[in-house]
Amino acid sequence: MKTLRQQMMALLAGAELSAAELASALRIKEKEVCEHLAHVSRSLSAAGKKLKIRPGSCRKCGYVFADRRRFTRPSRCPRCKSTYLEEPLFQISSD
Ligand SMILES: [Zn+2]
Repeated sequence: MKTLRQQMMALLAGAELSAAELASALRIKEKEVCEHLAHVSRSLSAAGKKLKIRPGSCRKCGYVFADRRRFTRPSRCPRCKSTYLEEPLFQISSD
């Protein structure tokens, strides 16, 4: 039986996923996914790997949340205030 974080790492090694997709795959809340991701990211860097984050963006004006290093997603665009946002995607890279 794998731990939740091991399952999370296995999922992220195979595909680029959003926090919502991870939440439904692991049957936990999205908020919990974000907490686990922070730990996963740390143990990955200890193993010489990296949690790659494709930043979320605004679907309305194209604003990219590039400097966002947290694992929670923004609720609205700081530029146009739209809530129609593309979620950040996570994947494990070995380089
Ligand atoms: Zn926007």
